[in-house]
Amino acid sequence: MENIIELRGVKKIYRMGPERIPALSDINLCFEKGQIYCLLGTSGSGKSTLLNIIAGLEKPSAGEIIFNGSHIEQMSEKQLALFRQKYVGFVFQSYNLLPTLTALENVTLPLIFCGAPKKIRQRRARAMLKAVGLETRYNHKPSEMSGGQQQRVSIARAFINNPQVIFADEPTGNLDTKTTFDMMDLITGIAHERKQTLIIVTHDIEIAHYADTVIHIRDGLVESVESAREPGPSVEKESDLFE
Ligand code: ADP
Ligand code: MG
Repeated sequence: MENIIELRGVKKIYRMGPERIPALSDINLCFEKGQIYCLLGTSGSGKSTLLNIIAGLEKPSAGEIIFNGSHIEQMSEKQLALFRQKYVGFVFQSYNLLPTLTALENVTLPLIFCGAPKKIRQRRARAMLKAVGLETRYNHKPSEMSGGQQQRVSIARAFINNPQVIFADEPTGNLDTKTTFDMMDLITGIAHERKQTLIIVTHDIEIAHYADTVIHIRDGLVESVESAREPGPSVEKESDLFE
């Protein structure tokens, strides 16, 4: 399986006046293309810091992040902005939709930045909203939708550019249990179908069950990496051997 992201010796220390807050100590990880990962840990363990560093939203204090062969820790802010536009999508706990824009306008935003013509933007955004079950809500503003519907809009926005990697930080943190499972089915279903890599941050073990690989984070360190896949090479079926 091909790696898409590799982390080597990643550290993060926050400075607040004279105080030094170590958030990540020494993170070494590989992420494979098309797999679903969960960063699981308690509050304050460093999950969001790690996600933000992998996604190029924050700089590490030390270490390397190799994304698709490029060292993103060496990029300028401008290069990072282009990199994020091209390769990554985000889903946040608080949805982060623009309140004055409709569902359709929120979803078309990433396409404006990449210069697609208006007709194509609208066609793609409608198809994406339909895929998340919101074909009757194109012209609703965020305040006119439920939390679950708003998160569906933000999922549509995250996937609209067909990014290679989708990052989701506690994507169901504000949702009830039923909506949480609907949302997880939706987001993992789209990622799986399109063979995209999905990295989800959560403190919820139930959400971790959706992942191919669960990375346990504790006190800024990787405590363990747990794979849900069957170990060992696949064995050919007897019927195949005699064909
Ligand atoms: P989690 O997402 O697992 O709850 P975070 O990555 O948000 O944890 O935080 C890890 C640690 O780093 C915590 O102790 C937190 O207080 C600290 N921290 C996070 N962001 C900042 C910041 N911008 N400035 C200072 N300390 C921070
Ligand atoms: Mg967090």
